[in-house]
Amino acid sequence: MTLLEQWDAVCTLLEESLGENVLNRWLKKIEPHEADACSAVLFVPTRFINEWIQKNYADDILSAWQTVNPDMSSLEFKVAPVRLKQEAAVKEEPFPQSENGPMRNLSPANETAGTDLSDTNEVSTNLDPRYTFDNFVVGKPNEFAYAAALRVAEMKEISFNPLYLHGGVGLGKTHLMQAIAWRIKELSPERKVLYLSAEKFMYQFVKALRYDNTVSFRDMFRSVDVLMIDDVQFICGKKATQEEFFHTFNSLVDQGKQIILTADSSPVDLKGIEDRLKTRMGYGLVVDIYPTTYELRLGILQSKAQMMGAEVPETVIDFLAHHISTNVRELEGALRRVVAHSQLIGLPITLESTQDILKDLLGACERKVTIEEIQKKVAEHYNLKVADLKSAKKERKIARPRQVAMYLSKVLTTKSLPEIGLKFDRDHTTVIHAIKTIEDLLKTDANLNEDINILKRTLEN
Ligand code: ADP
Ligand code: MG
Repeated sequence: MTLLEQWDAVCTLLEESLGENVLNRWLKKIEPHEADACSAVLFVPTRFINEWIQKNYADDILSAWQTVNPDMSSLEFKVAPVRLKQEAAVKEEPFPQSENGPMRNLSPANETAGTDLSDTNEVSTNLDPRYTFDNFVVGKPNEFAYAAALRVAEMKEISFNPLYLHGGVGLGKTHLMQAIAWRIKELSPERKVLYLSAEKFMYQFVKALRYDNTVSFRDMFRSVDVLMIDDVQFICGKKATQEEFFHTFNSLVDQGKQIILTADSSPVDLKGIEDRLKTRMGYGLVVDIYPTTYELRLGILQSKAQMMGAEVPETVIDFLAHHISTNVRELEGALRRVVAHSQLIGLPITLESTQDILKDLLGACERKVTIEEIQKKVAEHYNLKVADLKSAKKERKIARPRQVAMYLSKVLTTKSLPEIGLKFDRDHTTVIHAIKTIEDLLKTDANLNEDINILKRTLEN
């Protein structure tokens, strides 16, 4: 595929995602100059256009390019006056083709073969072999989704169409969907299962439009027995793709073929999707996957540790389940880092080494406490009102808790002394005094120590 062909495909994708206006006003001003497998140089006529494009569209351009060529990793924009551009003949060298991935599908040689639906029967090509039902740990937050997925996978007659799984990032939507594909493949290998991301669907569609191939595109998508589209939210705001998807959807449902969808939110909550499509998508069974609970995280970590063949102490599993986010992908990533580290240096995994290795991650996940929360909790703890803490009242039963709240604000937040003072209607010298007082008292006063510990614990939760 030549540079110009690639650029053309990138523009078509960007037209769909950013609109015709942006394409004509800005992107058409760009001229691809040269590229290798993973980087490209683009010419832009003026400094202003260059800045504007870099500021507003560089990320979109790169990600569209990565859809066309997954290896593309950097783009360089250069201001090149027209004269210069004419001299620099656009290079037409063919690109090194990657073994698989979308580039192959775009190559003109494949054009006559229709879309790359040729690999439809071979579902396993884009399925992850680890994403099976056996490897899926079931708990309260996902048991319903699991049951629904299993049922769709094991029933020949259609009981709900579509099955629509939704939930936040890293909660197992893709895993469950692919597990269905694997199970169907195992139980009824004659059924044609097609799994792809909504992004890829759009890409295929745009490509079919470009090559005037929509007929074979439609034939292909409408001839499968089970269609699985992952991350449907991707087509939000993409009109033409939605339209095509709507027709594909209807055609398959009419033929009694199973459709399975995933997205980051329920059909009604998807923004930028036409109402008629939303209605259709919510027509079958809509199932939530909820954020993981501590118990589920424990189960997942135990299972993953076993799969990695690693000896991970209970305390470490417990620590990870408590401190890493609800996102299973992050949980798994953290565990993998800890295991890899211990294997590398040949020492057993301990709580200390875990905390050390995950320092950066733990910092980011830690909840940020605000001064308002501190005031609220302190007031509750001492049976006061937040207004008392901010008031001018001087009696000990109010002044002491006020000092405690100021002290905790300093210890638990990154706010400056004047900022803290402001929240209590005081100046920073009062805050300094409060901190000093509490620090001194803590050396001797057991009750105060206990109060502070309790407050810290509730606040850091
Ligand atoms: P999503 O598609 O919802 O963003 P994924 O399906 O990609 O999430 O899951 C992210 C990672 O977490 C994958 O490696 C997946 O195997 C793993 N995972 C998620 N939920 C579970 C679970 N219940 N049991 C085992 N692994 C899980
Ligand atoms: Mg996913």
